[in-house]
Amino acid sequence: MSAPRMPDECGVPDPFPYMHPTMKENFGDWKYHDRPRPGVLHHVANGGDQIWTVRAGTQRQMDLYTIRKLCDIADEFADGFVRFTIRSNIEYMVTDESRVQPLIDKLGEEGFPVGGTGNSVSMISHTQGWLHCDIPGTDASGAVKALMDELYDEFTKEEMPNRVRMTTSCCQINCGGQGDIAINIQHTKPPKINHDLVANVCERPTVVARCPVAAIRPALVNGKPSLEIDEKKCVCCGACFPPCPPMQINDPEHSKFAIWIGGKNSNARTKPTFHKLVAAGIPNNPPRWPEVAEVVKNILSVYKEDAKDYERIGEWVDRIGWSRFFEKTGLPFTKYHIDNWRGARTSLNASAHIRF
Ligand code: SF4
Ligand code: SF4
Repeated sequence: MSAPRMPDECGVPDPFPYMHPTMKENFGDWKYHDRPRPGVLHHVANGGDQIWTVRAGTQRQMDLYTIRKLCDIADEFADGFVRFTIRSNIEYMVTDESRVQPLIDKLGEEGFPVGGTGNSVSMISHTQGWLHCDIPGTDASGAVKALMDELYDEFTKEEMPNRVRMTTSCCQINCGGQGDIAINIQHTKPPKINHDLVANVCERPTVVARCPVAAIRPALVNGKPSLEIDEKKCVCCGACFPPCPPMQINDPEHSKFAIWIGGKNSNARTKPTFHKLVAAGIPNNPPRWPEVAEVVKNILSVYKEDAKDYERIGEWVDRIGWSRFFEKTGLPFTKYHIDNWRGARTSLNASAHIRF
């Protein structure tokens, strides 16, 4: 009898074979750490070992030549040790303080800004966009690159009241995350159905079951089995599009950007929070998305000016109140900002605190 097939997936890869030897030797035995300058972390072990970590921003979606360049820098300046952070920054580790500045200089020369630590605007985390996913309404990666070009100075300095964590999401329903500022696609019209394709491509019960507001019904169109949408019920979420691409929701004009603020994942000071909508209907305007940048920079400058030290964006708004937030930023407040969906009270877990 042949041996049973073993599972291909083995969980999280073992980090130790690739870890810097000083980090491996002092694993779990660190005395303290500090930040000598933006973009550099300094860790001191109980036994006296020290290690400096230099963090630099990347454009995330990188060609082979850029990756080679980053690796060459590692070979020449950091004994070949690197790691990537979840926000697509690259980190180099060195154990001799005199090697820190030459590494920073080289990264600067090659166009990789050093920063993203402490009270900076760190690299924006984002979803896959046009390159990898089959349902995006925009290119999250492109919007991030364009926006980080505008926020270059805030990445290399630590001058915000507290850290600013931004996210983008290229559809309304899947990946993405809670951010101090979140930039998300927002569809504003129900899907347009290509009835000729539905019967060939879509499993209709699956599509009907997908809709969160029961707006989809089976229908016979031109003698063929298809689907129809009750447009009064449809909330334009786009959940029907992944299982049924003929229900096209992406639209160059009606798929917009919306900006949400005040989300955070940490338990520090206040509990984790969901972000809330502050601006909607912003044009999805590649390749530089200038209208998005304008709103984000406005919110950041008012926050920087008005918040107290250590207040995250959500904590700042909680202190001054939403009406003052809209007054100070000059963003229009409309009836669409009012969250009147009562189902959230019972169906959303509004806190990350673990309950048993
Ligand atoms: S956010 Fe949506 S469109 Fe973007 S990568 Fe995730 S599933 Fe795909
Ligand atoms: S877009 Fe969302 S609400 Fe509208 S029909 Fe599709 S699944 Fe239902």
